[in-house]
Amino acid sequence: MGQSIEKIRENTNKARELMRRTRDQHFCVGAFNVDNQDCLIAISRAAQKLNSPVLVEVTHDEVSAIGIDNIRDLVDNYKEEYGIEMYVNLDHGHDVEVAKKAIDGGFEFIHIDISQANPDASYDDIVSGTREVVEYAKKTGALVESELHGFAGSSNMHEEDIDYEEIRKSFTTPEEAISFFEATGVDTFAVAVGNLHGKYPVPKILDLQLLARIRGAIDPNALISLHGGSGTPMHFFTDAAKIGVSKVNINSDMRYAYRTTLEKVLADNPDQFAVVKIMEPVRQAVQEVVEEKIAGFGSTGMAVLS
Ligand SMILES: [Zn+2]
Repeated sequence: MGQSIEKIRENTNKARELMRRTRDQHFCVGAFNVDNQDCLIAISRAAQKLNSPVLVEVTHDEVSAIGIDNIRDLVDNYKEEYGIEMYVNLDHGHDVEVAKKAIDGGFEFIHIDISQANPDASYDDIVSGTREVVEYAKKTGALVESELHGFAGSSNMHEEDIDYEEIRKSFTTPEEAISFFEATGVDTFAVAVGNLHGKYPVPKILDLQLLARIRGAIDPNALISLHGGSGTPMHFFTDAAKIGVSKVNINSDMRYAYRTTLEKVLADNPDQFAVVKIMEPVRQAVQEVVEEKIAGFGSTGMAVLS
């Protein structure tokens, strides 16, 4: 349990190298949430089958359920077993303390989201908290991601339509992106260009022209991520990869596949109480979602193993 600082630095160097490849070769890497071990198996299988690099990520609830050290160990074990390029991302870290714990725990990617736990956080609060994490991450070389304010939506199933007039008000501007990179020193900026957390009854629409303007305005080495990727037609990601997005977060589509398939296998096997014996269709359903995203992100065949 626990990695040496040398091992952690080796991993973060590889993670940085992967992000450089996304810029040079114009593909995105999927960051897939793991609720539990079955999801991790599904992601590992998809990564192996398509020879794709992957990030697995854990939110506050997932960290609480599994534990930082356990996640690190599980990922290391599956990485070796499947022979894949895989990293861990803290997804929407609530505060500076959990981000520091994840850095010490050897996570290669840290997303600090001050406004998640405190929606009233001021710009200065967000910048100073993010800066503190950026400074601390120098210890291991972990990449830090943040954004200006919380994203619209929530990682769940929504019945309402998307009011683009309303959410357009919170879209990122190129000027905001430039000043946020300068103020915080983050590696990755999570843009808002029509992406929303959660799954909606209508497909999401990304403003690719705005994305291209943001990309053109910031430093060529600065990285862009897209959250709320579920329920977005795949052609948007193919274009986003060409424009220069490096990381796309996927959660709700996997959760939907997991839960609906689990409900079906439980209904089909009312007398089976050893649930572990009937989980295979659930893993396969989640794997299919991950494979579809990998194909759309252009990361098939892009893994570098060493
Ligand atoms: Zn997110």
